[in-house]
Amino acid sequence: MRIIRITLYSVPIDVGMELTRYVASQTMDPALDVLVVKIETDTGLAGWGEVCSAPPYYLPELSAGAREAILHVAPLALGREPCPPAAIMRDVSAALRGHGNAKTALEMALWDLAARAYGLPLVDLWEGRVNDSLSVLSVIRIGSREEMLSEFEARRAEGYSRFQIKVGAGEPHGDIEIIRTTGEMALPGERLWYDPNRAWLVDDAVRIVKATADLAPMIENPCESYEECRAVARRTGCRIMLDEALDSPRRFLEAANDGVLDVASLKTSCVGGIEATRAAMGLARVLGVPLRIEDYHGTGILLSCVVHLAHTLPENLVFGLYDYVSDGPPLVKNPLKVEKGRVRLPDRPGPGLGVEVDESLLGSPVAVLEAR
Ligand SMILES: [Mg+2]
Repeated sequence: MRIIRITLYSVPIDVGMELTRYVASQTMDPALDVLVVKIETDTGLAGWGEVCSAPPYYLPELSAGAREAILHVAPLALGREPCPPAAIMRDVSAALRGHGNAKTALEMALWDLAARAYGLPLVDLWEGRVNDSLSVLSVIRIGSREEMLSEFEARRAEGYSRFQIKVGAGEPHGDIEIIRTTGEMALPGERLWYDPNRAWLVDDAVRIVKATADLAPMIENPCESYEECRAVARRTGCRIMLDEALDSPRRFLEAANDGVLDVASLKTSCVGGIEATRAAMGLARVLGVPLRIEDYHGTGILLSCVVHLAHTLPENLVFGLYDYVSDGPPLVKNPLKVEKGRVRLPDRPGPGLGVEVDESLLGSPVAVLEAR
């Protein structure tokens, strides 16, 4: 079996821009897309991957960059035997620094293809399934106090127990009020944390955390840089969930060694791709760091990938996943379903990612590369 064709598609996606500190930059209106990668072999077997690159005011990458990077390294995969996939991925990684968004889509498709070739669900080609079902988080978006509380109650009634509460769009006293109000409402078994999307200055963060210290809030990536987040942790003892600051497995290790990593949110594009994410997951297993595994956005292809990954972790290391299916383009005909705040692979998930892609929704390819 050999890889004969790599096809790229660009599918527009509306991720529903929320109110954040990036509002001024959002006037640039970056049209976002899901870059879908299909890798085909001469036996008719195909693998699928995708990436929805974040807008460039949010993460330092462009969707067009992912496209160009895949075109650049495609000759390293074309004509090759797809199994074992590690051989191709090693060559891609040696040829291409950075470009975690490109590596997310390409590595996802290579793994999907290899698992289909072996006739195994991806989870079984990785470490195997060690938990039954996974928590999905609910995002409480910035709004008035009443809007946020009513959203919180509504999602709780749907069965969610993990809540990412957005803050950081206004003055520190408003964030203090939201943390106090929601923190005091938390029920046993619920996990709440607060995400200013890197908006706080160190001084704001210290003030907010100290004013709510009796509630011991967990804060997600409070400030722009890793060093600022570390300063907040050291000055307050605050529980920290790092997100965008985790830009490599090496950074994960550094943060864990510094004691600034109570929970990690691994964004595959940010950390460096699927292989870099798997490396960070290995560190998390050794060091006992609970994880969210996700990317900026996506569809049922990404959801399936992160669910296969998260099923390889012990239950206490899965902090919560993101639901890409409810509001993403329905590219997958058989998406995993989020029910009562949880998601799971079926008992017989089928080979690879287990996704059946609706090719009628992909439109015309933006690039087709063939083996010579
Ligand atoms: Mg975040």
